Amino acid sequence: MQQYFTDVPLEPGMEYVFPKAQAHHAGTVLRMNHETIRLVHDGIGYFADAYPKGKEFAARVLAIDPRTNELPFPITLAQALIRREKMELILQKAAELGVTRIVPFESSRCVVHARSEKADRQRERWSSILQEAAEQCKRNRIPALESICTFGQLSGYISDLNLAAYEKAGEDSPLLQALRPSSITIVIGPEGGFSEEENAALNEMGFCSVSLGSRILRAETAAISACALIGGYLELCDRDPQGK
Ligand code: SAM
Repeated sequence: MQQYFTDVPLEPGMEYVFPKAQAHHAGTVLRMNHETIRLVHDGIGYFADAYPKGKEFAARVLAIDPRTNELPFPITLAQALIRREKMELILQKAAELGVTRIVPFESSRCVVHARSEKADRQRERWSSILQEAAEQCKRNRIPALESICTFGQLSGYISDLNLAAYEKAGEDSPLLQALRPSSITIVIGPEGGFSEEENAALNEMGFCSVSLGSRILRAETAAISACALIGGYLELCDRDPQGK
């Protein structure tokens, strides 16, 4: 079932007229004609019947879809800037894995740096990657994308539990020993990793250095596996002990 996010408030019985880009996708690309789709507005999903309407494309909103595909706790992924295609892979997978907020940042060993002249276009591309991934996996929300920040500004993204993936962290700090938090921030470094000073600074900020295992992972593998581990673990924790 195709899903689309919209800023338009929805209610059962109304007719939703698609904006141009969505109308092109639903009408011309997918050639829908009275197909059931999922529309999402402000975290609530609705079933709708999509159909061509003259030169436009519309959908009759049918009923609220009670399902929510969001994690029980917000996860913030703070990701150091890495090469473009790998950064975009992380954004896509983070959206699929339920991450609620993405904080791109620069650290001393980044091989890629923020370029103000490219900022708008890059943000637009990153936002569309997040939206497409959230639509594809039927999420009720698109992850929030923060502006690229400095290493020091990471202290502004503190959650209830704060982890910094650091390959030199002792094995006795495996990720999942973390307590059951109400929100989490996980920080992943760049291709060059964190310097000792940066790791110490992260600890100062309140981020606990955690190991993702004894293998040195690529940054994108570390980001994706950390989000998968945290999200999956929290969903399990959140389940009723009888496992309902
Ligand atoms: N400095 C590393 C090296 O020795 O080649 C490279 C850093 S790794 C490519 C990129 C980031 O992934 C690191 O900054 C860290 O955040 C995370 N990472 C990779 N492997 C990890 C592990 N085993 N435990 C914790 N974090 C890891």
